[in-house]
Amino acid sequence: MTLNVLLSSPVRDVAMQEQHTNFAQAVSLDDRTYVAVNPSQARRVFLTWEWWSKVLGLRENMSKLKIIPRQKAQHAELLQVGFPLQTLTSQARVLGIDFCDRLNMASRSTANKRVQAAELQARRLCKTKAVPLQAKKKLWRTRIVPKAAWGCFFHTPKMTSLQAAYRKFMYVHTLGPPDLRCILDGPTSDLHFMAGSLVANALRKMAISGRVPWYERPKCGTWLHTVQRWLSKFGWWIAGPWKWCHDACRLSMDWMELLDMPNQERFKFLLDKFDHGIRETWRFTHFSAWLKSKRRDATALRGFVFYDEERFKLARQMFESQNGHGKAVMVGAACSTARYQSLRLGAVDNFCPWCQEPSVPAWDHLCWQ
Ligand SMILES: [Zn+2]
Repeated sequence: MTLNVLLSSPVRDVAMQEQHTNFAQAVSLDDRTYVAVNPSQARRVFLTWEWWSKVLGLRENMSKLKIIPRQKAQHAELLQVGFPLQTLTSQARVLGIDFCDRLNMASRSTANKRVQAAELQARRLCKTKAVPLQAKKKLWRTRIVPKAAWGCFFHTPKMTSLQAAYRKFMYVHTLGPPDLRCILDGPTSDLHFMAGSLVANALRKMAISGRVPWYERPKCGTWLHTVQRWLSKFGWWIAGPWKWCHDACRLSMDWMELLDMPNQERFKFLLDKFDHGIRETWRFTHFSAWLKSKRRDATALRGFVFYDEERFKLARQMFESQNGHGKAVMVGAACSTARYQSLRLGAVDNFCPWCQEPSVPAWDHLCWQ
């Protein structure tokens, strides 16, 4: 608190000094971050802060100073205005998020560290046999997913091996279709969905406050680009500034509807409606992907089954209450007795052990004869 009060004067002074330029700064206790339009402004602001530190009796920790030049030419200019070489860097961590010199930078150290820490936890869950599956799933959703998925504002890191660890400790049937399993496990277990969802919610807050501009075609590696790409994966298309539509699910959302909302209940209702809509399109996308797949169950059902929210809700509830065998049946990962015979003996018996009849115990016989 004291530090906040102490630093309020320099914060206002620097803002006043640079008020005629496109200058932005964020101060969190003794951490200062600012965006300068050119190297001389960077130096000017730095010197003002240094001056204030002396006045207030504070000492700058120069080893923590990091400058990210966005253009090659700025590198030499920054050295020229007096910044030491070791302060120039290609990326820096600001409040847990990586800021990089190149927008499309794939390797981001803070995000990578977070994914690695999450992988370590997931591997521990793979080794622990004593914890029940439901508890493991809960730990995954509440500890591991938020850790890995948080802060992917400009770039979503690769999380395939982390998702693979989930399939391992949850005993996900390899024979079952991954898309169906994904829907039945729910969006909160899906790393990429949650990463996008966190970024979209943060952007929505900023959009309503009017602090981020809208771009029809945002550059790759920007916040808006991450969100637009994430939404387009589920079939949302841009219908205007902060407005998206989904044809197949007949949904639309306009974030600006949330603006100047006098009624708190209505605001909450709209937020829930948007979030629910996105989750529905996520389910719809996975369901469609399964139907389009070359699997036998999908090709047989194509044209006869359609995505239905209510039925899926019932199926999800049933799936939750099943043991491993029940889950295998529900995702089509169960095999017929004939198949097990062929796996075990290398041949199929013309005898069904269930009804003791001379018949091949294939699916058709087991279910219908
Ligand atoms: Zn039989």
